[in-house]
Amino acid sequence: MESLSSKAYKNEFVDTFDGDDSGNLKPRQTPGVLYSKANPTPVEKVTLLAWSEDLANELGIQKPTKQEEIDILGGNNLAPTMQPYAACYAGHQFGNWAGQLGDGRAITLGEWEAPTGTSWELQLKGAGQTPYSRRADGRAVLRSSVREYLMSEAMYYLRVPTTRALSLVTTGDPVLRDMFYNGNPAYEPGAIVLRTAPSLLRFGNFEMVAARKETDNLKKLADWTIARYYPHIQGEDKYLQWFKEIVDRTASLMVDWLRVGFVHGVMNTDNMSVLGLTIDYGPYSFVDNYDLNFTPNTTDLPGRRYAFGKQASVAYWNLGCLASAIAPLLDGTEQLVAALEEYATIYSKKYLTMMGNKLGLDEVKQEDIKLVTTFDETLAAVQPDMTIFYQLLIDLPLHLTEEEELLNYFSDSYYTPPTKKQRAALAALLKTYIARIQQNTCSREESQQRMRENNPRFVLRNYLLSQAIEELEKGENTLFQKLQEAIKTPYSGNHEEFFAKRPEWATSKAGCSMLSCSS
Ligand code: AMP
Ligand code: MG
Repeated sequence: MESLSSKAYKNEFVDTFDGDDSGNLKPRQTPGVLYSKANPTPVEKVTLLAWSEDLANELGIQKPTKQEEIDILGGNNLAPTMQPYAACYAGHQFGNWAGQLGDGRAITLGEWEAPTGTSWELQLKGAGQTPYSRRADGRAVLRSSVREYLMSEAMYYLRVPTTRALSLVTTGDPVLRDMFYNGNPAYEPGAIVLRTAPSLLRFGNFEMVAARKETDNLKKLADWTIARYYPHIQGEDKYLQWFKEIVDRTASLMVDWLRVGFVHGVMNTDNMSVLGLTIDYGPYSFVDNYDLNFTPNTTDLPGRRYAFGKQASVAYWNLGCLASAIAPLLDGTEQLVAALEEYATIYSKKYLTMMGNKLGLDEVKQEDIKLVTTFDETLAAVQPDMTIFYQLLIDLPLHLTEEEELLNYFSDSYYTPPTKKQRAALAALLKTYIARIQQNTCSREESQQRMRENNPRFVLRNYLLSQAIEELEKGENTLFQKLQEAIKTPYSGNHEEFFAKRPEWATSKAGCSMLSCSS
């Protein structure tokens, strides 16, 4: 274990690429460079609120106890070998080209080499202004920081690829936010999350250099990313192979999100990781009722571009943006387009496998595709609580035959009683399902085990987060600590107090169902 203050950090991104070394934090365009050096702006007082023990152990990071070490987590102190910077990236937001965006409030401190030899980018989110802050303050509030901290760790334990969060600190500084975008700004407590991943590079980093027609920078960035994060890819057609792997990883990620019921809420290309990780936790949510049209982001309401059921197709659109960005590195676009078009097939295959696991099928045969599709359609119509429905399905008594019995068995999962037509559809589906389960070549226990491993029993619902945040703002951390434990074993039956539908009061309460981007 090493301490945050005495570690010899690496700074390979900074050492490799051209950056703006001026240290000037004035908002501006930065053509020709991939980052700007930017030191965190000190805050009033850094107080450690949460620390991810498992992650720290994996990375070999000693828990800070002295204030000078805790200060590193809030940007009030730097280790001598750190070379902090904000990355320059662009992006498509809600389908439109947004030009230069960049790390407006995130500052990478350095790269931490773990005992296994893997390198981790340590980044503070909310550490103050950078040249990419535009008109904003570079800060983050407690409520959004708690959400990023808990949810990124929750996703890790759900086995969904994600960035991680090492620590959460409060800053002692008030931060002004118009939470509902309705002209009523108010002060909220400030906070900073230290997030980490092998790399936080996004599609948008490539889009930026491509848009500026900096082909040398584009090539250098792609070469570096491949050599460092995709070292098995070599040879003549490496850019194509690399893109294919990003397509594959992104398809896997979308399938995983659907498996656990996660809705990201802001799938702009600047929020898409080139490593296929879930990145940038903003107005996300798990679905409670199985509504494919659900978007948690109030800004997304007009078009519902980022709705639960649209994520897989938006990912394809985003991959198209990445393909356009890297196209100058290939001779002709034919193969790149073909690789992009493979996405639908790759995704469908992964989706079917995932659904087979969720449903406890021994294997997914051609004849099972209809069953899977009907499941999706029927759930989308009935809209039961997704988590509870699948938990009940695991223990469905296979001898049930009557519509009444079958429907009653799932009664704890309904938000509204199914209509007559929906009842008939669901009963018919369940009968077909029972018949199919009985054809499994594996035992019922094995099938149920598979279901238990793929259907979470605990998900970090927005209303729980909202309650924990309300408590924290009053200086009370009981629920927060309970949630911090619960996220670690989401497939177990250890958290029955949270095994419940979203309560009625939370349906329309801000922060419990929908959120704004204000963070
Ligand atoms: P997001 O919607 O969180 O992905 O952010 C989009 C862009 O806005 C990114 O370039 C962020 O760095 C920037 N941004 C968001 N919030 C702030 C803030 N409070 N201060 C500065 N930049 C911000
Ligand atoms: Mg972002």
